[in-house]
Amino acid sequence: MTAVVLDGKACAAEVEAEVSAQVAELAEAGVHPHLAVVIVGDDPASHIYVSGKERACARVGIRSTRIDLPADTDFSRVVSTVEELNANDDVHGILVQSPLPKGMDELAVTDLIDPAKDVDGFHPSNLGRLVQGRVDGMVPCTPAGIVHLLNWGGVELSGKRAVVIGRSRIVGTPVSLLLARKGVDSTVSVAHSRTADLAGLCRQADILVAAVGRAELVRADWVKPGAAVIDVGVNRVDDDSERGYHLAGDVHPEVSAVAGTISPVPGGVGPMTIAMLMRNTVRAAFNQSK
Ligand code: NAP
Repeated sequence: MTAVVLDGKACAAEVEAEVSAQVAELAEAGVHPHLAVVIVGDDPASHIYVSGKERACARVGIRSTRIDLPADTDFSRVVSTVEELNANDDVHGILVQSPLPKGMDELAVTDLIDPAKDVDGFHPSNLGRLVQGRVDGMVPCTPAGIVHLLNWGGVELSGKRAVVIGRSRIVGTPVSLLLARKGVDSTVSVAHSRTADLAGLCRQADILVAAVGRAELVRADWVKPGAAVIDVGVNRVDDDSERGYHLAGDVHPEVSAVAGTISPVPGGVGPMTIAMLMRNTVRAAFNQSK
């Protein structure tokens, strides 16, 4: 058996088409969705991610502004930048690209962003809504993209056993909340670095989400035959190629022979994350225009 590939690019393109139509509708009402992205420092991966987000904005007709701050920026400057964006009625969405330079308190920055403009969905009030089972706030983009992709691929979630490897506030925890939510109704276990017999737990999963950051950790004998496997990982692995590295997911390629459906890396969760960011930005603009 070879797993059916969940084509995140195709799914994201459909979401982006919907978002484009919403942008056009808002424009008729005189509202022009505008996303501000703050990037601090020169982490090459962050710059690639931010460029991808800017290109997506251009595709769907969202205005984007990028604010580049040097790595040695004072924390107070980051704070004042966010505060200015909060106060700027012309800006509907604010995203501060992670990671911030060493020593900068990411949570403190997250707390500062106006929840209505928090298109990443990491503000305590947005994550708190999710804990309440509500998805009417800003839902974190990667988790929302994972659930959307599973639904799009026709994967049955209700009553199924899901295992999420990883408990970060960015991916693992919010995706486990989304999967367990009333109406989605998976039965969710959350695994982490202290989980005993991780392979045995994963083998029980009908839906396995790997959000770990360890290249090819999940092996074929960890996976129940026919399971849906979502690979969130983006790991840089050094090699002898001209570039000197390649990207690998958290799931070993051999898993394709066992799983029923699988999301590829690249081309799976990555495009979905960006599409959900576009969706959140339009939702933020709509909410702020009411
Ligand atoms: P993170 O904050 O580092 O969290 C990793 C989680 O994995 C932690 O909960 C950690 O456990 C757990 N873990 C680490 N090693 C483990 C092991 N050997 N066995 C079991 N659990 C283990 O990472 P993240 O931000 O959630 O990101 C995870 C991965 O997804 C990364 O590769 C990242 O690049 C990728 N990502 C991709 C997208 C996308 O759009 N495609 C978006 C976000 C993230 P503890 O809590 O015990 O430390």
